[in-house]
Amino acid sequence: MLELKTNVIPLIKKLVPLHRILQNLQSKMNFQQLVRPNIYNLEPYSSARDEFQGQASVYLDANENPYNNPYNRYPDPTQRQLKNYIAKIKNITCQQIFVGNGSDESIDLTFRIFCEPGKDNVAAIEPTYGMYKVCAGINNVEYRAVDLEDDFRLNAHKLLDATDNNTKVIFLCSPNNPTANLMDKSAVMEILNHFQGIVVIDEAYIDFAQTEGWLPEINKFPNLIVYQTFSKAWGLAAVRCGLALANSEIIALFNKVKYPYNVNLLTQNAVLEQINDKQKNLWVQQILKERQPLIDKLKLLDVTRKVYHSDANFVLVKVVDANRIYQYLTGMGIIVRNRSKVKLCGECLRITVGTGKENRALIDALKTFPCKI
Ligand SMILES: *Cc1c(COP(=O)(O)O)cnc(C)c1O
Repeated sequence: MLELKTNVIPLIKKLVPLHRILQNLQSKMNFQQLVRPNIYNLEPYSSARDEFQGQASVYLDANENPYNNPYNRYPDPTQRQLKNYIAKIKNITCQQIFVGNGSDESIDLTFRIFCEPGKDNVAAIEPTYGMYKVCAGINNVEYRAVDLEDDFRLNAHKLLDATDNNTKVIFLCSPNNPTANLMDKSAVMEILNHFQGIVVIDEAYIDFAQTEGWLPEINKFPNLIVYQTFSKAWGLAAVRCGLALANSEIIALFNKVKYPYNVNLLTQNAVLEQINDKQKNLWVQQILKERQPLIDKLKLLDVTRKVYHSDANFVLVKVVDANRIYQYLTGMGIIVRNRSKVKLCGECLRITVGTGKENRALIDALKTFPCKI
């Protein structure tokens, strides 16, 4: 008996790697099942710039006009320089980075890679960013919206209960737009641990939150995709550049499906010129410094019913009459976002944190709103 026990231990030790291999194999099979077969089997277009990479003195391979340098040349389809820089500041590899025409491209490609039109579905929190639902509609994919709790907290069980075998993607957004709060870490973890499909976490506002977010977890969860963007904290909304960050297998699929030259030269150059960690952090600090007095002043106003907690560069405010206040502000040249028709956001306005001067103009205007008529 004793002998058996001592013999079993090295045997188990030997079996562990085998077990790992089997697990890996199984996750590979599941991964293949997640991807649309036509995409999994797709032979991607190979451009001239794909086939030859490197420096040469004579380029006669892409039917370009030899004049009008540098705009005559096709841009780098792999955005290598840009990815090198992003990899460095985000502490990940180039193979874990997809660069797209804003987050919108990442969202659309997620549908096109994983969701069979007319058959598969996705689940998402409600309320959230509107593009997930629009993209689902464009791709003819059923969209299952699952309400957040009254305090905008994520209920992982409710979201998981809404999924079935055809649910390929769950969309989370943290900090969430328009509710401004981070999704609870344990609830997100529960979804990552229990959902068999792709989990997207849109982190457009992560720079404004006091957490490093979910990017470090892409090494642990092969089904996690994190979206980030240059449109908010980096101050580059006009440049149109967004990121999907995930394990290299998922990123390879994004690269297969994207337009060959999806990020143009002007965008690549503008991001490279403007990408400056220090400047971005200064802006974020400044915006966060403006956020607190804005919240404090909003709370004191007669028009305000409730100011929700914010982990982002905007605040959601419940007011006495959102439509009338929106119109009133518009008349004074101050534009906020009227979210009063959005689920759980009745009578709510979404207000971006601006400069100190802009925020004061908003508060002054709201002070003069005739609450009682
Ligand atoms: C603003 C925003 C984005 C940014 O989209 P881009 O296409 O990168 O400009 C992405 N997700 C959410 C939730 C947003 O609010």
